[in-house]
Parts: sequence; structure tokens; C-alpha cells
Amino acid sequence: MEAAASRKPILLVVSGPSGSGKDSVIAALRTLEPRIGYCVSTTTRAARPGETEGVHYHFVTREAFEAMDARREFLETREYAGNLYGTPRAFVEDALRSGRDIVLKPEVNGAMRIKELYPQAVLVFLTVRSEDELVRRLEERDADGPDDIAARLETARLEAKAISKYDYLILNDEFDVAVAQLRAILTAEALKVWRLGETS
Ligand code: 5GP
Repeated sequence: MEAAASRKPILLVVSGPSGSGKDSVIAALRTLEPRIGYCVSTTTRAARPGETEGVHYHFVTREAFEAMDARREFLETREYAGNLYGTPRAFVEDALRSGRDIVLKPEVNGAMRIKELYPQAVLVFLTVRSEDELVRRLEERDADGPDDIAARLETARLEAKAISKYDYLILNDEFDVAVAQLRAILTAEALKVWRLGETS
């Protein structure tokens, strides 16, 4: 994305069920659009194989998370499948102040909270066409036990009910198409007339 020096930054929020391929799609977008900053959340979940501290998440104990929360270091927090997740307040506020586009990937409740705080946030829901496909992907990933998969699936069913509150829906049946669609959203958002002018 060509940075229009004076345009207002894009706060891109991408939600979608575990197994939707959200992380890979966001990673591909960031390769194509290296200017977009990724908001690394904090979680009490254990790191999965291949996940790195500070890159995928900040991995902390529940005690540390609660202490950070008490210091109001999160914009929003959520318990999801038995683990806590939080969006770092300072990262988002600094990015918006300095006019930098960022992407976040909270679950549905977090996305709704961010939309309340920042009505200009652009909400994208990314999923796959069928629940069978979701199950297949979760099993293939093999990082979560069967109980965890069941809990994630149940959450996915609940989350799907919130799709109407999002601005855009992407079905990740074909990875390259999903990435191109997310990039198209970013491009269109950058061209919105209201974004011209002073950063805020
Ligand atoms: P996972 O454990 O699969 O990485 O993430 C579980 C869920 O938590 C996903 O839906 C993910 O998008 C969501 N999530 C990750 N970080 C945050 C966050 O900071 N806040 C909220 N509300 N959800 C998050």
C-alpha cells in the first residue's frame, strides 16, 4: 500500500474461527503489504510448535496476564477455550497516533469491542464454506487435543452468528483468492475520501 502521508490509518480487524486459515492469510497479506503493522496479542495459552514469543503472541502466565490487565495494558481481553487473550493498548494507540496501518485478529467479542472503541475499524470475517472443512483443518493441524477441537468448533458456531456485524466476509476456499480479497479491501479502504487529511 502506498502510504499517503496524511491519510488516516487503517485499523483492519480480521476475525474467523480456528482452522479458517486466518493466520496464514494475514501473514501473506503482510508479505505483500509490509507497511502494515501486526498487533501481537498477549495470551496465557501455551505456544504451539513453530510459534515464537513476540512474533505470534506474547506468551505469559495467567498471573502475569491479570497483572497487566489490572494496569489497563489491554484494550480488550477475552477468555477463549480456557485461555486468556488481550489486545495491547499501547501498540494500537501508538500506531493510530503515528498514522500507521495495523492488522489485528481478535475473536468476535474482541472485534465488537474494538469497533466500539474505534468506529472506523474495518471488520473482516474470514471463514471456510463448511463446518466439515473446518474440522478437517483443525484435525490436520493436530496442535489441539480432541476436547480443544470440540470447544473451538462450538465457539465457531456461536461466532458465525455475528457475521452480519462485520463489514466484509471472505470465504477461504482458495488461499490465493482469500489473500487477494483481503488485499483488495485494504486497497479500497486506503482510497476512502474521509481518510484524507490529518492523521488522528
Ligand atoms: P488461537 O489460540 O487459535 O491462536 O486463538 C484463539 C482465538 O483467540 C482466535 O479466534 C484468535 O483470533 C483470538 N485472539 C487472538 N488474540 C486475541 C486478542 O488479543 N483478543 C481477542 N479478543 N481474541 C484474540
